[in-house]
Amino acid sequence: MIFSNFHTHSVYSDGKNTIEELVLTAIEKNFSAIGISDHSYMSFDHSYCMKKDAMTEYVHTIHTLRDKYADQIAVFAGLELDRYSSRPDTELDYIIGSVHAIPTPYGGWTSVDSDAALQQAVINKWFDGDMNQYARAYYSNVIDMAKIHRPDIVGHFDVVCKFREAENPIYNGYALEAAAAVMESCDLFEINTGAIARGIKSVPYPSPFIMKYLAEHKAKFILSSDCHRAALLDCWFADAVEYCRSFGVRSLVTLTKDGFTEYGI
Ligand SMILES: [Zn+2]
Ligand SMILES: [Zn+2]
Repeated sequence: MIFSNFHTHSVYSDGKNTIEELVLTAIEKNFSAIGISDHSYMSFDHSYCMKKDAMTEYVHTIHTLRDKYADQIAVFAGLELDRYSSRPDTELDYIIGSVHAIPTPYGGWTSVDSDAALQQAVINKWFDGDMNQYARAYYSNVIDMAKIHRPDIVGHFDVVCKFREAENPIYNGYALEAAAAVMESCDLFEINTGAIARGIKSVPYPSPFIMKYLAEHKAKFILSSDCHRAALLDCWFADAVEYCRSFGVRSLVTLTKDGFTEYGI
């Protein structure tokens, strides 16, 4: 199967490779297309995001490489837009909407996906030690993200469960409520293998119980590895196709010069 990946990070945010290295790796892997989606600028956390004024140069770099390699691969300019980032004025081919941080009940912000021990400490200190409260806060931000940004693709929908199996019926219920609400704004969800690539999880986002719900409600799906290293550009993609098929999904979405299109699996 010919793959593509539209969730990739370069040295413009927290990726390890240049955009050209990502494009060349995609060509080596015989991809039909690649999209670059570095992290949008965030005012309160600069550790993994693009610099405030980098957008123009970032898009120019992607467009230069798009033209340079036009006869070998389609290259698209995207952005992973955080819930708490502003949508930039720069014209982009697509937006992935994601939640990486949530406000705490007592002010400030906390990252939801950076570190297992930090996450548990935050739950203990600010959410009464209750994962359900924490997950409810996360999913309400996912709903807001979809309403505010109206992204083309919903990023790592249940990343709040990065460090645990999604086994609790209460917070799993919040996940399904959020899935229903998000689908009113965006029905394209990524099958994100990023945590598998890092050796943290054995299944992609969304978790199986969410996939079941989304597939039953006719959501659409697009493969992504949330790539931070070029070598992991297609990590677990063949398995991800089987993962989708196991929920009765028979087509996936890719981006072409004619826009988002479906192909059979
Ligand atoms: Zn992300
Ligand atoms: Zn990402």
